[in-house]
Amino acid sequence: MIKTHILTCPICDKTLRREGGFYEIKKTCSNKHHVFVMNFNDWDTLLSVSLMAKALRGNKFIWDFQQKTLRVERIDGKSSHELPWFEPDFYLYEKLIQKLNVYVTFS
Ligand SMILES: [Zn+2]
Repeated sequence: MIKTHILTCPICDKTLRREGGFYEIKKTCSNKHHVFVMNFNDWDTLLSVSLMAKALRGNKFIWDFQQKTLRVERIDGKSSHELPWFEPDFYLYEKLIQKLNVYVTFS
């Protein structure tokens, strides 16, 4: 599982931007290739991670680590549905992108 204390983006290794207060903390990496956002709380419990990327063809993926659900949403908000849960490895980014695109094609 991805660690909440990481300081750099697992995809591009740039410094993550930290925002937020006591109950919910957000770490973000946003550039023209991807938008990676992780949410966790003050007890270092990972709540969710979302990923948007050019390579994901207009889809946004949200892993809810509390509910163990994975959702895919169209960026334009036109549709949203659930996919089978799996633990993402953002350090194996190319593989992850491939897997997500296959999931969406066959869902
Ligand atoms: Zn990044």
